[in-house]
Amino acid sequence: MTAHPPADTPPRVDVAVIGAGPAGLAAAVRARWVKGHGAVPFRVAVFDPAPPGGLAGWKSNMLTGPAWRLDDEVPGRLLADCVEWRIPVVREAVESVRAEAEGTFAILTSAGRSVRADAVVLAAGLRRLCDERDAFGSRVSVAFQGADRFPALLAKAARAARAAGGPLALVGHGGSRALAPLVARAAAEAEVEVVWVLEDGDPGQPGARVARGRLEAVGSGEDGGLRVRGEDGGEARIPAGHVFIDYYAFEARPSRWLRWEPDPSRLPSGHVRVDREGATDVPGLFAAGDCTGPYYAIARALGDGVTAGLSAWRHVFRGRFGREGSLFAYRPGGGDLANEAAWVPEVPGDFVVDPLLEPRTCARVLDARALPGARLLAAPRWAAAWVAAAGIPAPDLWRAVFEARAATVRPVGPGEEDRW
Ligand SMILES: Cc1cc2nc3c(=O)[nH]c(=O)nc-3n(C[C@H](O)[C@H](O)[C@H](O)COP(=O)(O)OP(=O)(O)OC[C@H]3O[C@@H](n4cnc5c(N)ncnc54)[C@H](O)[C@@H]3O)c2cc1C
Repeated sequence: MTAHPPADTPPRVDVAVIGAGPAGLAAAVRARWVKGHGAVPFRVAVFDPAPPGGLAGWKSNMLTGPAWRLDDEVPGRLLADCVEWRIPVVREAVESVRAEAEGTFAILTSAGRSVRADAVVLAAGLRRLCDERDAFGSRVSVAFQGADRFPALLAKAARAARAAGGPLALVGHGGSRALAPLVARAAAEAEVEVVWVLEDGDPGQPGARVARGRLEAVGSGEDGGLRVRGEDGGEARIPAGHVFIDYYAFEARPSRWLRWEPDPSRLPSGHVRVDREGATDVPGLFAAGDCTGPYYAIARALGDGVTAGLSAWRHVFRGRFGREGSLFAYRPGGGDLANEAAWVPEVPGDFVVDPLLEPRTCARVLDARALPGARLLAAPRWAAAWVAAAGIPAPDLWRAVFEARAATVRPVGPGEEDRW
């Protein structure tokens, strides 16, 4: 088995997840790895331009208190499930999401890829990350650990910039104005220039050097500096000795570069508004983690992710089978306890069968359930063809396929009619 999750996705998925931080990866695993009688596994894909793990991959973290410290355990464990269950983590940013009349979402990525999804989980955190992780603690530092520490953090960052022979780059948005007096003091003491890289607004200081746009690469510092993308799509290179990211500003108001149609309802701070099931006011759109507001903590992001992932699963199941699905003990559904077969949804013969595992693994797990794995995978990908190839009653076939989490079933999509 490869140590990395797949990096490519088919153009049609059941659940698309925006962001591969703890919230997004937890959501992805829960929508894919469901359990219970007839709990159909769904096809999931995750999108993130940055290395998976989000902020939880930056350094060791504390889960609930000093006795519970984690190194790279959170991203590592979540990614192990993405590898095992073939959940793609695509290294592209989502640029826009549009709700379509058919109840699906049209997603466009930074690489120009179009993907259609029945449900979307937004887990984009406070801002889009790039390659900062490897430089965190050396060339990159952040305003995060509490405002009382900011003067000392900024003084250290300014000295580091001076030693590296380049300006101190302050990354934030209009809310970073609050930091401006402290930045000015630290820069004056270290005798270093400041360049502001702001998504919007200005630092409120006459004569301040401002580059407008979103940080896209920190780079090594030897190749001409930071790469900054303007809202018009243009790219600028900004020389920098040290980079200081103003998370204090992003915590108060998250970045808003993703285009939505329609825009989900937000809190006055700009965070996405969700109910306790992780649902936004756009049907089929769920959100989890830091992008929904404080408290900013990994434990909460994981819990939110689980909630949004299971809610996205229910949404897709209801749309596909016209009834509530049963999620084992996570949310028991009212089913006929005396008739187990009735828990398995009825699969129309013209539904498409989408294997979710690599062919060899898929055949093996089907064989292990006493199904003719190779024969099923060689059959046309219609539900009726699979029933014929299996030679057993449809409910028995689907129950075994779903329990093995080997394949999912769905209606044929536009333009796919002649595919199989
Ligand atoms: C320095 C630091 C230390 C911390 N220490 C702790 C700690 O000790 N304990 C603790 O509990 N919490 C800690 N936190 C907070 C914790 O890391 C976050 O609350 C948690 O990571 C939030 O998870 P998330 O998945 O919501 O967001 P994130 O971890 O921010 O992940 C969001 C992901 O979404 C991606 N994304 C954004 N926009 C797009 C887009 N348009 N398309 C695709 N992908 C996108 C981002 O690139 C990112 O990878 C710390 C945070 C920082 C910055």
